[in-house]
Amino acid sequence: MSRRPAEWLAERMAEGVGVVPVHGALNLIKNDGSYSAQIFEGAAARKILANGHQEVLLGTDDHKPVFAIAVDDTYADQIVSMTGDTAEFVDLRSVGSFLPATDAHLLAHARGMVFWHSRHGHCGVCGAPTVSRHSGHERVCVNPDCASSHFPRTDPAIIVLVVRDDVPGGACLLGRSGRWTFGMYSTLAGFIEPGETMEQAVTREVFEESGIETTGVEYLASQPWPFPSSLMLGFHAKATSYDITIDKEELVDCQWFSRADVLGMKESLDAVGDEIRLPRKDSISRWLIQKWLDAD
Ligand SMILES: [Zn+2]
Repeated sequence: MSRRPAEWLAERMAEGVGVVPVHGALNLIKNDGSYSAQIFEGAAARKILANGHQEVLLGTDDHKPVFAIAVDDTYADQIVSMTGDTAEFVDLRSVGSFLPATDAHLLAHARGMVFWHSRHGHCGVCGAPTVSRHSGHERVCVNPDCASSHFPRTDPAIIVLVVRDDVPGGACLLGRSGRWTFGMYSTLAGFIEPGETMEQAVTREVFEESGIETTGVEYLASQPWPFPSSLMLGFHAKATSYDITIDKEELVDCQWFSRADVLGMKESLDAVGDEIRLPRKDSISRWLIQKWLDAD
């Protein structure tokens, strides 16, 4: 999608265009009883394209190009008015699970690309300004002696449910970060370091955060997390040691939980006070926990 010639784009845009505005880190969500992506078309789309900045071609919908575009504070208010106040700019993380999957993906893509442009206005090699190329899928340094190309990046991170089978019914290792919703326990996670395999990152992160040694690291599924630019790679692993030593920089608590413990945990929305609660249903963390619960 990124390297379409200008003529291709002009031809397609003559037929129609879709626009998804992004305001800072916020996406425009329509709420008319259910949530969906607010996509502008026709004259409204062309007006927003002319008034926003840093457009990015996201793809085509029925041959029509669809763009993400950044809008400033004042224009964001005008755009909300254009919807008759049926839409508002909100953090996708707070409503993503209520959106149709294709809408959530489109908005996450838009947010990730606009965020990348906002943080890469200067060359990481020589410090000169960069300019957007190829419909927003590349930035190029304007210094002719450098002329480095820069591309949107995705940072791989591992997320892992560590289980033990030396106790009846088994148990799993869940921790909590002080940054999370109070009471929520989740799988351990961390970024992959340069030169590491995914499996090495799992073993290292689990040991650093909890002191638990693991084997049988098994990749299961992934979840994009473009807030701003991660891809979560989900694993199960088996513990070979059981005494927990918490890394206090990363976690405020970490415990073994039996199946019965986990089945007794509240949903985030139902929990009150300090009740122990599960990660959200739309998270890969929760999926990894559920897969373990369903296994036997
Ligand atoms: Zn440069």
